[in-house]
Amino acid sequence: MTLHIDLHAIVANWQALSAKAPGARAAAVVKADAYGLGAATVAPALYQAGARDFFVALAIEGQALRPHLPDDARINVLSGHMEGADLTGLVPVLNSPEQFFRDRAMRPGKPFAIQLDTGMNRLGMEAAEWSVIRAEALAAMPDFIMSHLACADEPDHPANAMQLAAFHAMTKGCDVPRSLAATGGILLGPDYHFDLVRPGIGLYGALPFADARPVLRLSLPVIQTRLVQPGEFVGYGATWTADAPRRIATVAAGYADGILRSISSKGASLYAAGTACPLVGRVSMDLMTVDVTDLADVPPELDLICPAQPVDRLAELAGTIGYEILTSLGHRYHRTWR
Ligand SMILES: *Cc1c(COP(=O)(O)O)cnc(C)c1O
Repeated sequence: MTLHIDLHAIVANWQALSAKAPGARAAAVVKADAYGLGAATVAPALYQAGARDFFVALAIEGQALRPHLPDDARINVLSGHMEGADLTGLVPVLNSPEQFFRDRAMRPGKPFAIQLDTGMNRLGMEAAEWSVIRAEALAAMPDFIMSHLACADEPDHPANAMQLAAFHAMTKGCDVPRSLAATGGILLGPDYHFDLVRPGIGLYGALPFADARPVLRLSLPVIQTRLVQPGEFVGYGATWTADAPRRIATVAAGYADGILRSISSKGASLYAAGTACPLVGRVSMDLMTVDVTDLADVPPELDLICPAQPVDRLAELAGTIGYEILTSLGHRYHRTWR
């Protein structure tokens, strides 16, 4: 079970997204272990390419990443200063007045950033809260002030312009670097770029960055093959029945490895050097069954994720988004880096 990760493609995607926002510094979002791929490898490669600003969700992720990056890399923590968090060597993005006062009391003089809510109503200070602490926060010199777009993957959604206007209004006159755009916001154009952009998913080769270079190939070993006669079924629930003699391969990965069970019976395939072999029956915990009748020779491994069936195609079949496919990728895979 091998997850082949193309580190050059991740770096190229970071460079391509940076080039789309030439006036801004490009950070790299490596939360959830770099969207399931491995932050300890991804972040140093992006540092080498010039990234100095990194984002994680939690302080514990930041602490795990800190030894892998030089001291001049800033690791920003999106959940901010939660009670009990060890923020040594990290930069909390403070999300509420409560977090701000806690942080300034416990970490006076240490770097911090501010998140404002411009309409998503998930993280960040509301306009009224911000107006109360704004002068004190600015006097303490935050590294940057940021907000996050709810609908940036839908360029025509009216929430984009609304949030942009709210961000301008809330940060007017603040002489501090500003950040609004993740991958989708970068693609909305220069009005959204400000001083720091925060691409995540686009680095890993998935939508909304349609021009991304593919990053992943997931190769799964065939354990055994068998001939199934017309009328015989395959797998749990007997959901698939052979209508002719078929050769079925059993492959060693299942939903315990993040292959969502909901792709069963939706037309997904595994690939043998470009030839599609239909996934038949249900995905089970550790196994899948594949119709390899059309192959002259069954190779030792079949690919579930490859250019012919990228992450976003699997997401579509599963009724989800590429982010969930990536962050579901299991820990039993051997990860190899190119
Ligand atoms: C996850 C996240 C990002 C990165 O978003 P992508 O859509 O993956 O590029 C940026 N900023 C915040 C606040 C996030 O939560």
